[in-house]
Amino acid sequence: MSKHLVVFGHGQGDPGATGNGYQEATFTRNILGPKLKAWAAKLKKNQIDFYNESLDMYQQTKAGGGAYGVNGYSSVTEFHLDAATSSSATGGHVIISARFNPDSNDLAIAKVLEKYVGLWGSSKPTGTYKRDDLLNMNVFANRGISYRLVELGFISSAKDVNNLVKNIDAVAKALVEAITGESLSGSANTGSTSKPQSSSNHDKIIEESPAKTVNGMTAKLAKFREEPLGSFREAGWAHAGKENYNYCFIFLMDKATNKEVARQKSKDIPRPDVNAAYGLSSNNKPGFDTTIDIKKFAGKQVYVKVRLTNDPAGNMKGGAKDIDFPEYYLTIPKR
Ligand SMILES: [Zn+2]
Repeated sequence: MSKHLVVFGHGQGDPGATGNGYQEATFTRNILGPKLKAWAAKLKKNQIDFYNESLDMYQQTKAGGGAYGVNGYSSVTEFHLDAATSSSATGGHVIISARFNPDSNDLAIAKVLEKYVGLWGSSKPTGTYKRDDLLNMNVFANRGISYRLVELGFISSAKDVNNLVKNIDAVAKALVEAITGESLSGSANTGSTSKPQSSSNHDKIIEESPAKTVNGMTAKLAKFREEPLGSFREAGWAHAGKENYNYCFIFLMDKATNKEVARQKSKDIPRPDVNAAYGLSSNNKPGFDTTIDIKKFAGKQVYVKVRLTNDPAGNMKGGAKDIDFPEYYLTIPKR
């Protein structure tokens, strides 16, 4: 049984670096943190504790507490995100004290970063990087306590942030395993975090979600949120390659039963970019954009089904194809 401490960098009035709609201090605490805790709770042979999240260990150490007061841990892992003026700077790395060589856990953490965001160039090939100018690192080195500072990736890189957000559950699981050396059972959610409530993070996840191809149909959901109040807006695009369908219908589907809650025919919106990307004829209009009244359905959790069909009623008469997006759902609020 080993106890390990996880520290989220910055905080206590210091947001850290910002980029792509996120702040370092809140990304680690609010996006990564809950996932890390959920996986840490599944550990059987080891334990991970979390340093007081309302505090910035750096400021605490400077004041004589912080790293000086940590006792009883086999390792301390502090999470940050990097930032650069160039948005093309990318990759994560594990910073260790220049006085030591990386241990197996440092290397395992670097492997996780390599898998999900790639390695920062100067840290290749191991993904570790030695420094002697970091306060917490030096205090822990002096005290003989194993410490590392993990730069998860660049907050200034949309690619890094997107890769982290998209895989956050898998990243968290792999980090807990790497920190402790203990394998966890159970599979991580992949693709995206399902957010039950409307929020800017939810919007971002939808906006950046990948297009899906099922049975010759390809669809991309770009917007799914309450807009205006009392309605859910669904927007994106869908096509079936060379096959043409006369109508595009959007359905809100009940997450619990997979039954239809409501449907609406979309107008066809020109998307020359989609036509070009998929080699579609230029008179195709693959865009959809609908607004569905939700006021009668408060409390239901719903996801979006996109249907291409020749049936003017939106059923499947004359041929139809569907793509469902059950991984992105919203709870219908009372309006
Ligand atoms: Zn930082």
